[in-house]
Amino acid sequence: MTTPRIAFDLKPSAHPLPAAEREAILANPGFGRHFTDHMVTIRWTEGRGWHDAQLRPYAPLEMDPANMTLHYAQSIFEGLKAYRQPDGGVATFRPEENARRFQRSARRMAMPELPVETFVEAIDLLVGQDRAWVPGEGEQSLYLRPFMFANEVGLGVRPAGEYLFMVIASPAGAYFAGGVKPVTVWLSEEYVRAAPGGTGEAKCAGNYAASLVAQAEAARQGCDQVVWLDAVERRWIEEMGGMNLYFVRGTGPDAVIETPELTGTLLPGITRLSLLQVAEDLGHRTAEVRISTDDWRAGNADGSLSEVFACGTAAVITPVGAVKSRRASWTVGSGEPGPVTLRLRERLLAIQTGRAEDTHGWMHRIG
Ligand SMILES: *Cc1c(COP(=O)(O)O)cnc(C)c1O
Repeated sequence: MTTPRIAFDLKPSAHPLPAAEREAILANPGFGRHFTDHMVTIRWTEGRGWHDAQLRPYAPLEMDPANMTLHYAQSIFEGLKAYRQPDGGVATFRPEENARRFQRSARRMAMPELPVETFVEAIDLLVGQDRAWVPGEGEQSLYLRPFMFANEVGLGVRPAGEYLFMVIASPAGAYFAGGVKPVTVWLSEEYVRAAPGGTGEAKCAGNYAASLVAQAEAARQGCDQVVWLDAVERRWIEEMGGMNLYFVRGTGPDAVIETPELTGTLLPGITRLSLLQVAEDLGHRTAEVRISTDDWRAGNADGSLSEVFACGTAAVITPVGAVKSRRASWTVGSGEPGPVTLRLRERLLAIQTGRAEDTHGWMHRIG
């Protein structure tokens, strides 16, 4: 038996933001500060499954104080972008990958799985409706935030019997002000992000809540971002804040592009996955490996590690310029964005903005 497709009820806003105000926002969107005219909502209830799919005006939600999410945090999310294409059309980047990861996150948090087609259709509808909100300058995009949370009222501890899936959209400029300016990172030897058997692989809200104190510590140490180490030995590099890490061994065309292997405690990034392919397309060898803090430091000291960068949807690729920990601090390469980092960044952005050929079928046209 195939599940019937969910029909969306389309309720466009009678009061979209006037074009002049929208254009003023798009001229300097920042990140996650402004939202488009519409949102998608789909309900799930025990016994009935997914239903009541709507595209409707963006508006606040009303919530009971005993909503289970507020107490027990069954809450997951995704992040992907829609880019303006050279012909004026709009396309999202690998939305089915986000849909599948959303299903895996749901499974881990004992939440229902939204069908991949419904996830993609929800995004297509929202971007189609709010296409005027997709900026067209340089690296700008429309950031899409699908999410789902428990929507049942009660304080009993168990998986909720009701959920709400939503998609909202926010025009985005550069994520880190200053573009490709290298960041300084703090190695977190005290706090951990994820432990074996925990929720590190799931894109759940709670992982972020638990990370903020470490991020604040990094800031106190004069660093921009925190780098997570494994929970058991506090030795193996996992990721940086909400981004995956890459290490460039050697230089030039022969450089090998390495990234920490997915051990179950890392978030499997779609940018990470895509860059393994892009690096190969550019003629590099790639490897998924274990890298320790000592390897990192020694590699920078003897010059064998030439560049390090972080990657994720929001900021694409950000060079790492310097590392600090309780015991040591060092500079990565020259401390400036490296040539391999910049080349990978340029190629990925060129594919996303339609300036380079999409040889892997990653772009998903809307309308
Ligand atoms: C979302 C996320 C990433 C990056 O994933 P992308 O799919 O590339 O955006 C990396 N680490 C964490 C912790 C994340 O939440």
